[in-house]
Amino acid sequence: MIRLWLLFATFCFSIISCKPTDEHVHEAKVLLESEVDIPAYAIVIHGGAGTIQRENMSAEKDSSYRAMLNAALDVGENILTKGGSALDAVEATIQIMEDSPLFNAGRGAVFTHEGKNAHDASIMVGSTQMAGASAGTNTVKHPISLARAVMEKSNHVMMSGVGAESFAQEVGLEQVDPKYFHTERRWKSLQRILNKEEAKLELSEDDIDKKHGTVGCVALDGNGDIVAGTSTGGMTNKRYDRIGDSPIIGAGTFADNASCGVSSTGHGEFFIRYTVARDIAAMMEYGGYTLEEAGEKIINEKLVEKGGTGGVVALDKYGNITMPFNTEGMYRGWRKPEEKYIGIYKGE
Ligand code: ASP
Repeated sequence: MIRLWLLFATFCFSIISCKPTDEHVHEAKVLLESEVDIPAYAIVIHGGAGTIQRENMSAEKDSSYRAMLNAALDVGENILTKGGSALDAVEATIQIMEDSPLFNAGRGAVFTHEGKNAHDASIMVGSTQMAGASAGTNTVKHPISLARAVMEKSNHVMMSGVGAESFAQEVGLEQVDPKYFHTERRWKSLQRILNKEEAKLELSEDDIDKKHGTVGCVALDGNGDIVAGTSTGGMTNKRYDRIGDSPIIGAGTFADNASCGVSSTGHGEFFIRYTVARDIAAMMEYGGYTLEEAGEKIINEKLVEKGGTGGVVALDKYGNITMPFNTEGMYRGWRKPEEKYIGIYKGE
C-alpha cells in the first residue's frame, strides 16, 4: 500500500512540476503497472519434488507433511504480517523445515556414500543482489543461517566444508554433534543403495532419489523486497564431496526485485547446467515473459527436453506466485493476506 502511494505521489509531482517528456510517459507506465493489486506480503515454500504419489502415501504421512508445511508458513507469515523483512521470514521458515526430519535438509538430510550428512544452502536478497552460500557442512544446525552469515558477515559469497564450519563457529551460529542429523529413515535408504551396489543389482526409481526433499522459500515483504533461500542434504549416496545446485546462486536460488525470486529442487546437476533459477528471472527481465510463463517454459519444456527432473517455487514483485514441477509431486504451499494454499500431488 505504502509503495502504491509513493508511486502515485511521484507521478503527481512530475505532472505538476514539468512539461511531459518521455520520462513522464515511462513514469505513467510504472504507475499503470503498479495498479496491479500488490499484496502486503507473499510467501511460498517447497519441501522437495519427486515421485510423490497419492497411492503410495499413507493418510498419516500425507497429513504430517501438510502440517509441517503449514507450521513453516505460519512462522514466515507471522514475521511478514508484523512488518518484518522477507530476509527474516525466509530464514525462519527454512529453519523450521531444517528442524523437521521429514525433509531432506538440516536434521532430515540424506547420507553421503561415506555415511555422513553434508548440507548445502544459499540465500539471496533481491534489492541488493547480495547472496551467501555454504556447502558440505555437517556441524551447523541451521545451514540457511550459515548462508545468511556468509552474506552478511563476510566478503564472500560461498564457503565450504571445515572452513565454513569454523566461520560458523566464529560468528556464533549453533553447532551440533553430527549425530544430530542421523535419522533411521535416511540411513536405511543409504544402506539399501549400498547393498544393491555391492550385489551389482540395478537401482530402482526409489533408490535413485526420485524424492528430492530439499526445502526452499521465497518471500516478498511490505517494502517490495524479494528474498529467496534453499537448503538441502543433497542426494543420497553422493560421493567425492559432490555439491548440488542448492548452494549455487543462479541454479538453486536467485532473487532480483526487478523480476522475481526462485528456489529450486530436483536433480541438481541439471539445475546447475541450465542455470534454472536465473534463467526464469532472465526470461522476465529480457524477454518480457510473465513469471508463470517463464517457470513453465524452463521447468516443463526445457528441463523436460533435457531430462532434468524437479521444480521451483517463485514469486514476482507483484506477489504473483508460481510452482511448476515436472515430477509426480512437490511439497508446496503459499500464503498471502487472507489466502493460502498447500499441495503435494500434481493437479491439486
Ligand atoms: N537439488 C538437490 C541437489 O541436487 C536435491 C533436491 O532438490 O532434493 O542437491
